[in-house]
Amino acid sequence: MEHINFLAFAMPAFFLFLFLEYKLAERKKRPEIFNYESSVSNISIGIAERLINLFIAASFYQLYYFIYNNYRIFDIPSTIFVWFALILATDFVWYWYHRLGHEVNFFWAAHIVHHHSEEFNFTAAARITTFQAIVRTGFWCILPLIGFHPSMVITMLIVHGAYSFFTHTQLIGRIKWLEYVFVTPSVHGVHHASDEKYLDKNYGDMFTFWDRLFGTFQEEEEKPKYGLTHPLKSYSFLWQHFHYYFEIYELMKRSQGFKAKWNAVFGSPANMDQDIRPILEKRFLQDKANPHQRLRFKNYLYIQLGVCTLFLTVFTYYFEYLNATDKVFVLFFILITLVNCGALLEQRKWIYYMEYARIFIVTTYFLYVENLISFFFVPLAIMIFAEQLFSLSTRYQNVVLQLEISE
Ligand SMILES: [Zn+2]
Ligand SMILES: [Zn+2]
Repeated sequence: MEHINFLAFAMPAFFLFLFLEYKLAERKKRPEIFNYESSVSNISIGIAERLINLFIAASFYQLYYFIYNNYRIFDIPSTIFVWFALILATDFVWYWYHRLGHEVNFFWAAHIVHHHSEEFNFTAAARITTFQAIVRTGFWCILPLIGFHPSMVITMLIVHGAYSFFTHTQLIGRIKWLEYVFVTPSVHGVHHASDEKYLDKNYGDMFTFWDRLFGTFQEEEEKPKYGLTHPLKSYSFLWQHFHYYFEIYELMKRSQGFKAKWNAVFGSPANMDQDIRPILEKRFLQDKANPHQRLRFKNYLYIQLGVCTLFLTVFTYYFEYLNATDKVFVLFFILITLVNCGALLEQRKWIYYMEYARIFIVTTYFLYVENLISFFFVPLAIMIFAEQLFSLSTRYQNVVLQLEISE
């Protein structure tokens, strides 16, 4: 019997709930909950994480089994009582994984991406990176080490993933009585806020009692202002992923002595030198065609995200039946398209070359599959020829991008 990969259904389910949230926001006359640039950016990051996850999830699971088989401290059976204990244990581990994610620079570099979004809706829930998944796996290894069976641990990962998705919405108001035990959208919204009194609060994923126990609980009083205290003013796909690692590296370079260098990596993000980021952005992000232009023809972006989602869904479903070439092709095709989406939002000068690179990857792949790889230069020659003959770049600017000057 064919093995069904249920993960493939996560994507359509995500878009279904997103659609419902969007419609409900419209009906409640709260369109400000959604911002198109930030939604595109959030979804792009989520797609990349799901894509890369296909390649590395198996090694995460193998690691749990390896630790369980060789180093487990207790032999814990899988009774109902143990399942309850595990729900509590996972949330406890989560609390510390999340709290250290905010208190240690090196972990914050991975987790900061989740907090870039200044919008708080279901798309923000998708803003998880592979780096964060790797850090989380490190923390979760404690569970098989204690002696919880890896299959139970993996099930709990899915439960946590599903639960925290639904806590990223503004459409459900405060449910006070529920907050005594459970993390609600209001409680998690406070965690995403940059207001002084909401900072470094509500780290729990499912339960609020760890926060109450360790003094980090804060209920919603004034309406939160979502996002970072020092917002990242870029939608560049790559910069959003890597900027904080660069900041740490720069801080380390500037620091004198072992202790200061150690603190650059493992110290508190509160002590990050805020002058560093603007300097780095000047160095890496100065290639905008026109910073005051906006994309008028948004459908081009939506089509790209749609194609990525469709590809990823089918890819996830058939992942184990595909050969290495197909996998590498889909990986690069989707990643380049995501970088492309970010570059479109940012009006990068090199966007046009990116389009060429993508066409080149697609044609090369098909030539390879048809055993005609030695002809790889043909599409390249056609593209250069077509550019000379029809000045495609100008047409691309006018027809596909349809830029407008924003105020
Ligand atoms: Zn956080
Ligand atoms: Zn969150």
